[in-house]
Amino acid sequence: MGGVRRIVPLTLGWADLPLSVSVHGDTSGTMLREPVPGVLLLCDGGWLLLDTGYNTALIRDPALRRRYHGDPLVQPVLPGPGEPLEEALAGAGVDLAAVHAVAVSHLHYDHAGGLGLFAGRVPVHIQRAELAYGMADGPEPEQNGIFRADFGDPRISWRQADGDEVIAPGVTAVLTAGHTPGHQSFVVGLDASVGGGGFVFASDAADLTRNIEDEVAVGGFIGVPPEQTIAQIRRLKRLAAERGYRLIPGHDPVAWPALTREMAARWPRPAR
Ligand SMILES: [Zn+2]
Repeated sequence: MGGVRRIVPLTLGWADLPLSVSVHGDTSGTMLREPVPGVLLLCDGGWLLLDTGYNTALIRDPALRRRYHGDPLVQPVLPGPGEPLEEALAGAGVDLAAVHAVAVSHLHYDHAGGLGLFAGRVPVHIQRAELAYGMADGPEPEQNGIFRADFGDPRISWRQADGDEVIAPGVTAVLTAGHTPGHQSFVVGLDASVGGGGFVFASDAADLTRNIEDEVAVGGFIGVPPEQTIAQIRRLKRLAAERGYRLIPGHDPVAWPALTREMAARWPRPAR
């Protein structure tokens, strides 16, 4: 089976927030500007997009912003006046229409906010447990940063997985529940034609390099003790080590731009 032939990291915005959001128990009061990532993967059959960034309407409309982003300590930052996903794809030389499938790591608003762009167009991969939590009655999902406004469009063609599943040639979604009830990370194997090897994209199973290196719990978890998130970090480290792949944290202010530069140097030509 063929592997992935190109990786394009996207930066779809940033979040200004306290370190305690990413490192459980941190009391330093340190503020970070964390990147909001997406990843384009060139697979057999077309481009697969991992995660979709913010729902810009909920940020730009003052009333909606008050409702959805009222916490002054955690504030979204958009890269420009347009749709971040469209602008990032244009920057990579990829048409929106060339994205043949989408997968979301989880339903937090900085990952699921762009799903509306794909409703009725392409399949969207998610863990069944994540969608069930997001669609549950009551205020709890929204209180935990999961907004029905991002993913409630009935035209979305969900592809729901129950645990680890190959979602494209060279791409396996692995269930890393804890940060959210159905969080998934992605194991990406590169095709031999581009040198082989690969990456494990932790997404929010490990926000920062520090979560991975020091094995410290992430600050956000739903329905589990924080130690559960450490167990998932260790599992991802094992998966990566077994394959000789690199484990990439989801929101690291240093590692993400470094990976972006590295991939741009590796695949310098505009994609078609
Ligand atoms: Zn998250």
